Amino acid sequence: MTESGSRRGADEGGTKQWELVVGLEVHCELATATKLFCGCPNQFGAEPNTNVCPVCLGLPGSLPVLNRQAVEFAMRLGRALHCTVEPSTFARKNYFYPDMPKDYQVSQYDQPINAEGHLDLPSGQRIGIERAHLEEDTGKSTHVGGGGRIHEAGHSLVDYNRAGVPLVEIVGRPDLRSSEDAKAYAAELRAILLATGVSDAKMEEGSMRVDANVSVRHPGEEFGTRCEIKNLNSLRSLGRAIDYEARRQIDLIEAGERVIQQTRHWDEADGRTHTLRSKEEAYDYRYFPEPDLVPVVPSAEWLAEVEASVPTLPAERREAVAEAAGVTPADAALVVERGLDGLVLAAIAAGADPLRVLTHADHNLAVEGADALDPRALAELVTMEADGALTATQAKTVLAEMVAGGGSPAEIAGAKGFEAVSADALGDVVDGIIAANADEWDRYVNGDDKTRGKLTGFFVGQVMRATQGNADGKAVTALLEQRRGG
Ligand code: ADP
Ligand code: MG
Ligand code: ZN
Repeated sequence: MTESGSRRGADEGGTKQWELVVGLEVHCELATATKLFCGCPNQFGAEPNTNVCPVCLGLPGSLPVLNRQAVEFAMRLGRALHCTVEPSTFARKNYFYPDMPKDYQVSQYDQPINAEGHLDLPSGQRIGIERAHLEEDTGKSTHVGGGGRIHEAGHSLVDYNRAGVPLVEIVGRPDLRSSEDAKAYAAELRAILLATGVSDAKMEEGSMRVDANVSVRHPGEEFGTRCEIKNLNSLRSLGRAIDYEARRQIDLIEAGERVIQQTRHWDEADGRTHTLRSKEEAYDYRYFPEPDLVPVVPSAEWLAEVEASVPTLPAERREAVAEAAGVTPADAALVVERGLDGLVLAAIAAGADPLRVLTHADHNLAVEGADALDPRALAELVTMEADGALTATQAKTVLAEMVAGGGSPAEIAGAKGFEAVSADALGDVVDGIIAANADEWDRYVNGDDKTRGKLTGFFVGQVMRATQGNADGKAVTALLEQRRGG
């Protein structure tokens, strides 16, 4: 993951090297039963404007009551991100928008609940986290006509069901250096949100929303002027938007112009970012302390409870697999992502060859049903494969049977008539096939690498046919090379 597509892309054409600098701001909706300051259900997809009350509609005289569960989820997430949980206060962030009936958003400003943490990417890279604070979500506007943008719309619809839904905003440090890293960060954050159970983190439903701050510079120079891109609702969009934006900024600078600090909107359809507002048009939010809410000062007992509720995190799980299997944490990323690391560790503990187990868990095992698999049976299968009693392909077939119907690998292999061909017998078969295909063999021996590659496929196929698929492709290839004298 060190050489990213975007970095290569950013270098094209330029004489000097360009480096991307990216910092993400991620909003995630907390999976509480009710909203942040009222008892209305926190529910996605309900009939518009049914989960509302005087508090979340901002009616005069209504008063907020802080949701304890939301605070707890925010603290749990904070600890999972290695932040310190601090005494915190709420503030009013003032601006007008039709989907925000109070004309201010209750957020946290100078005293956020979580400060200074970090997140470790599967590559091992550590990304700083500045803060992770609590705030309320706004309602949701749908602009009808004009491509869905407010200024060109004929009219707009507003749904206040989302107003007051608890959010945590996680502000990352500008430590990311490519679109690939940014995607890895968002994916890792999503995995942490899911592991801690604080959010369902569905980018497509908006319960995890990513804004990307992007700038470019020559390595070693100070940070350049950044633009913030809104409206990224998939990892793919995130990557595309960053690459587009970096290219746009590089082109500007190379044409002798300047990057202007702006908020930009990503348009998935045309694959470009567009100006939303410039720094001069930026809101002055006039933050001031929220007078209707007291500071949040969690007790030591509560903090200890929260601490105990933080599960083993993906980064630690990758470490555990890496250590047991003798691979890098990055090599362990896929099994952890697939939730099969427990099975892998148990199979390795039962004596299985680690790399073969990882291969099966990465590529051959469906996640559904895998938890029913007995790790000792998996270890047995892998040992049969390692001993040459089963080919890799046969092992895959047996594994599928084991998941579908249970049973021991030896019995399943026996019932399927999988009999490994002994090394001697396989050598004889290979010699027979070589003798029967003298022309092809001549071209195999004397041809270039490309020819040999093609003919390897031919010979392996012939051997497979002769052994009814009981030969191991790799073993055949090795024998061919040995016979060639290579
Ligand atoms: P603001 O208060 O205007 O939102 P911050 O300084 O808090 O600005 O930064 C917000 C986000 O922008 C953070 O995620 C941070 O990592 C990122 N960021 C800051 N400076 C840069 C830069 N020069 N290039 C890219 N991202 C940046
Ligand atoms: Mg910001
Ligand atoms: Zn309400």
